[in-house]
Amino acid sequence: MLRLIFTAVLLVICATAGAASAEGVALTFDDLPTMALTGDAPYAAATTNALLNGLRRHHLPATGFVIGEKLEGDGGVAQTRLADAWLAAGMGLGNHTFSHASLNRTPVASYIAEVSRTDGILRPLLAARHRPLDWFRHPYLETGLTLDARRTFEAWLSGHGYRVAPVTMENSDWVFALPYDDAILRQDTAGAARIKRAYLDYATKAVVSYRTAVLQLLGRRPSFVFLLHATRLNADSMDQLADILRRNDLQPVTLDRAMRDPAYKIADTYAGPDGDEWLSR
Ligand SMILES: [Zn+2]
Repeated sequence: MLRLIFTAVLLVICATAGAASAEGVALTFDDLPTMALTGDAPYAAATTNALLNGLRRHHLPATGFVIGEKLEGDGGVAQTRLADAWLAAGMGLGNHTFSHASLNRTPVASYIAEVSRTDGILRPLLAARHRPLDWFRHPYLETGLTLDARRTFEAWLSGHGYRVAPVTMENSDWVFALPYDDAILRQDTAGAARIKRAYLDYATKAVVSYRTAVLQLLGRRPSFVFLLHATRLNADSMDQLADILRRNDLQPVTLDRAMRDPAYKIADTYAGPDGDEWLSR
């Protein structure tokens, strides 16, 4: 009898532990190849290398969302090589429009033309590595002022094999990223360290607050989709960011895997001016 109780208790513990470890997090990086204060090619290359090395060092799968126009024109060849480095590192790439356009401020037909143009740039890149192109993320998370605009665009997306990558966690990294670039470029080591510390303090609190808020909303924690940007600040913070995920029992998973969470079947019918993440909606 005692053995039976012991087994039952053990089963409950295992089930609880299983539920806890099911809380995944998929990292996504916007504005590829890099978002920076400078257009300097070596700076972009150093950022990309450090980001990818950090992701691999901590076994973090990630998906990067590419701004199409960065792969064209001056420096386009070097920028394309940086985007391709993500694929070579085993990461995914998605479409983030051609000029980082907002669906709230662009007629649907022009917006579709933007996404289609980037599709023409990215698809061959992915096909060369036998990888599918199936993720889209709205710049500014702006999904259209009217439900009609939203639905028209979403119908185009699904007709072309795309799924929308929502955002369930973010840490306003972009607010810190450009001052950090500025400090690095001025060789202000102390200033850069101070900004990085402020960023990581904020990131620590942001992750905890999203985990708490979603628990209140759903009564459980789904797999998260974490929005970051392809910046030098994140490249230089990968060890600390990985540590924040670990301390919060967040299991790194691919975007595909995270999106299998039933939470993402909840209908999102928002239409309006706010570029909010999933939870706020
Ligand atoms: Zn963006």
